[in-house]
Amino acid sequence: MLLQNERSEIVRFGRKMLAARLTSGTGGNLSIFDRNEGLVAISPSGIEYEDMTPDDVPVVDGAGKLVEGTRKPSSELGFHLALYRQRPDIRAVVHTHSVYATTMACLHWEIPAVHYLVAFSGQKVPLAPYATFGSEELAARVAETIGGYNAVLLANHGLVTVGPNLATAFAVAEEIELVAQIYYQAKCIGTPVIVPEGEMDRVIGKFATYGQKG
Ligand SMILES: [Zn+2]
Repeated sequence: MLLQNERSEIVRFGRKMLAARLTSGTGGNLSIFDRNEGLVAISPSGIEYEDMTPDDVPVVDGAGKLVEGTRKPSSELGFHLALYRQRPDIRAVVHTHSVYATTMACLHWEIPAVHYLVAFSGQKVPLAPYATFGSEELAARVAETIGGYNAVLLANHGLVTVGPNLATAFAVAEEIELVAQIYYQAKCIGTPVIVPEGEMDRVIGKFATYGQKG
């Protein structure tokens, strides 16, 4: 079986995405890119995360052609591939419809550095202009907007995060959802104070060596 470990990871993190309430039903999608093999494992379209097995996870090449599996790839395969082309440093993409991040996206707001955890994305979480789900236009808008950030809001749609592995891209999605909720709540009762750019640079630097790394 091609990309056996990666396909198991897609199943495992799909269930985590539901448990963490980052999505509901069959919404959202995840992928891992094996850059050595040039192959992408991506969650299938319309299969419940609880029922999904590694066999259900299709494997496609860099052009999106099905290489192994019987299921149809996620309808958002286009922006996953566009992100892998745009960002040679990433190997995983997570897409959610998490409620607070999506609330910001429906207001066409970016998320500023309202909390230092925004550093999981960068200086902010930018917003990609609206385009129909699953369209080539959406893939182009997402790839144009990502820059060096690790998260992008999709107008009237949701959130996309990237990382060097699936665990990191997933952590970015969790932290940005938390920050979006805090931003919402702070806005409800006052005017949030934004962390200055220089301090965010310091935090981004500290994140590079945080935890068990190095
Ligand atoms: Zn979506």
